[in-house]
Amino acid sequence: MAKTYTCRDVGVDCDWKTSAEDEDGIMAAIQVHAAEVHADIELTPELVDMVRAAIKTA
Ligand SMILES: [Zn+2]
Repeated sequence: MAKTYTCRDVGVDCDWKTSAEDEDGIMAAIQVHAAEVHADIELTPELVDMVRAAIKTA
């Protein structure tokens, strides 16, 4: 089951989206993107929970 995620799903004004084979893979991709593009956004545990909730299984 592929996982998909878009920044807009957590209210970030960004058109980036990604997909991965599993949740670990997509969380890793999201963390790299966040560090590169959203360095001003702190990945708090609350935000990580929002991100996990926003990940869709396609
Ligand atoms: Zn983004």
